[in-house]
Amino acid sequence: MANGVVYLVSTPVGNLEDITIRALRILREVDLIACEDTRCTGRLLRHFGIEKPLLSCHEHNEARRAREIVARAAEGASVALVSDAGTPGISDPGYRVVRTAVEAGVNVVPIPGPTAAVAALSASGLPTDSFLFRGFLPPRRAARRAALRDLAASRATVVLYEAPHRVLAALADLRDVLGNRRVVIARELTKLHEEYLRGTAESVLQELAGRTAVKGELVVLVGPDQGRQQIPEESLPARVRQLEREGCKRMDAIKQAAREHGIGKREAYARVEEAKLASERTPADS
Ligand code: SAM
Repeated sequence: MANGVVYLVSTPVGNLEDITIRALRILREVDLIACEDTRCTGRLLRHFGIEKPLLSCHEHNEARRAREIVARAAEGASVALVSDAGTPGISDPGYRVVRTAVEAGVNVVPIPGPTAAVAALSASGLPTDSFLFRGFLPPRRAARRAALRDLAASRATVVLYEAPHRVLAALADLRDVLGNRRVVIARELTKLHEEYLRGTAESVLQELAGRTAVKGELVVLVGPDQGRQQIPEESLPARVRQLEREGCKRMDAIKQAAREHGIGKREAYARVEEAKLASERTPADS
């Protein structure tokens, strides 16, 4: 029998009007819809008057389901894969199904549509020419800080997903590790209470901390490090000198440069002292 297809169908991240005409047609035409949560997708399908067999495919059974879905498609079935919201595979199940299909030579066809990351980026006012999607940071502080340190050298706008109950802690870590960069929070995209908070890591943190609770879904976007772009060799002592020239007190300059480089202020201080000694050394000393 001829090969079938696995369609990756994007669904709305809030506003149901964002579903595409093509997505609706594909969902009406396929033999089977694999979805993260059958209740959630059931509601979506009922809203659009679609009835189809559903197969649950979530993060805990995706490996097994991937084989089943691909086997069905290899026998000629057309299968749509959807997640609870947005684009499958984007911080959602989907990758394993796609990889299994690709390895089996089964056609994979994306049906593009909403994804919170790109919607937020497009309206953020931060540079869009280069961006780095990092999804959810680890929930624990030490691992989150380590993940942020990995992002420190990037010159791209960083796009993160974050849970509302963790966003204050994430912003504090972000400020400490990446420095007080430009930050945008895009909350409740496409929904009734859609909101953008634009400022620095510190000002956005203060704004959210002043609220009784942070609710809803949100995307955190972090602008590229303007200061660091001016330092040719990522040199911490050079950054400290630059900040001092700009009027910062020495210890404040060291603290800020330490944050930007994702290291502690003691280590930063040691590096500055080391650089100073090296520059003071006469040829006779060396
Ligand atoms: N696959 C989805 C996509 O394409 O955007 C992402 C799924 S991920 C499990 C859910 C996260 O996406 C939320 O915690 C939030 O960070 C972000 N998100 C989803 N819908 C959103 C919305 N309407 N407004 C803001 N962020 C949203």
